[in-house]
Amino acid sequence: MDNRLVLYNTLTRKKEKFEPLNPPFVGMYVCGPTVYSDVHLGNCRTFVSFDLIFRYLTHLGYKVRYVRNITDAGHLEGDNDEGDDKFAKKAKLERLEPMEIVQKYTLGFHEVLRLFNTLPPSIEPTATGHISEQIEMVKKIIEQGYAYEVNGTVYFDVEKYVKEYDYTILTNRKLDDLLNNTRELNGQDEKRGRLDFALWIKAKPEHIMRWPSPWGVGFPGWHIECSAMSSKYLGDQFDIHGGGMDLAATHHTNEIAQSQACNHMQPAKYWMHTNMLTVNGTRMSKSAGNGFLPHELFSGSHPLLERGYSPMAVRFFMLQAHYRSTLDFSNEALEAADKGYKRLMNAMALLPKLNATAKNTEIKVDELKARCYAAMDDDFNSPVLIAELFDAARIINSAYDGKLALDEPSLVSLRTLMQDFVHDVLGLVDDNTGSDDFEKLMDVVISLRNEAKQSKDYTTSDRIREGLSSIGIRLKDSKDGTLWNKI
Ligand SMILES: [Zn+2]
Repeated sequence: MDNRLVLYNTLTRKKEKFEPLNPPFVGMYVCGPTVYSDVHLGNCRTFVSFDLIFRYLTHLGYKVRYVRNITDAGHLEGDNDEGDDKFAKKAKLERLEPMEIVQKYTLGFHEVLRLFNTLPPSIEPTATGHISEQIEMVKKIIEQGYAYEVNGTVYFDVEKYVKEYDYTILTNRKLDDLLNNTRELNGQDEKRGRLDFALWIKAKPEHIMRWPSPWGVGFPGWHIECSAMSSKYLGDQFDIHGGGMDLAATHHTNEIAQSQACNHMQPAKYWMHTNMLTVNGTRMSKSAGNGFLPHELFSGSHPLLERGYSPMAVRFFMLQAHYRSTLDFSNEALEAADKGYKRLMNAMALLPKLNATAKNTEIKVDELKARCYAAMDDDFNSPVLIAELFDAARIINSAYDGKLALDEPSLVSLRTLMQDFVHDVLGLVDDNTGSDDFEKLMDVVISLRNEAKQSKDYTTSDRIREGLSSIGIRLKDSKDGTLWNKI
């Protein structure tokens, strides 16, 4: 397939031409949420970013299998294989079954992503549904000589691995620095090397989530689930592996090591990472008290927020920043994004009302279209795309106001362009006036006003016009009847 798409590959630290392994098929794996609490906005940003990538690849004609997992087992606190299992801990806290917690937060997660209008992935596998695949992979890594068992727990042998492979290939850190930042082993430790990590963990008697294995009853380490499930659904080697930037240093580094040890090949050709969120310039985090949840952002019920913003306005706000840049939340930036989103939706609503009124037009829609593709082909540069679409909105507004005349081919290609990029690629829909019911309601209101005018009841017709104007709906009488748009 001929395309001009280039994307930034974390593995090579440069932008590369996108050449899938088996075109037109594309395999994409994105690390999904751990469902023991509400999904946070940082996660949402990651999933909105990969939704944009999924949508654009699909728009280009690729047949994408998008796999995004649900981590519902065995994720320990921190990345150091220590501490209680988070599900068991929370279950005790709320007196619920672990799978009840998983169900509650999985439903919540899906609901938030639905509000953000993200497309569902092709497959959404759960860690608990793939225990046998994970056990098989651990067995294979032991057979290859890169893992060892101690008292029912299996560790990945990083010291052995680094003799043959580049363990820090993804982040390019120095191994010595990594060692210096890791706690020294003492007599209590089971593992041989301080960078070794658990593939399978022996369950303590009080541990609720547990499965039998060749090494006794236990549960899988966090990193192994993604390696096992990505190779099951996408093959030992696939095109894109993505996730938040915070996953690169440990989780993705260990995923690469596991797959290399097992299959002797790099699991993914392109590694893509989304950047962090900040609030008024400070990194968003629960501990700093500046982390708001999606529903707090929608309702405005957080002390840092002046008001709430619709999920679509927030989606627009996220897409106005490139996925590799930090995204800074502030009331001013959200307010500006809300205005920009409405401007774009207003243009979309005017589009069906435009008529071709010229034989020729000086507007070159093809050039605008080429610029939209160029923006997305440059590592999915949505902020540049949005700037181009604002140009399109200006053209639409001028045509609506009669300051510019469009010929039929230009109008047709302008409609296709907006449908393709605003709806299909950016995934933006009008959350105010997009519904059929609203259109029908406006038809009723407009016909009542016209009847009032015909019977010279100008008091009523003016009241309708002013009433609509006060909620941001502008009426325009033309020879084709009364048109309306939302300001
Ligand atoms: Zn993962």
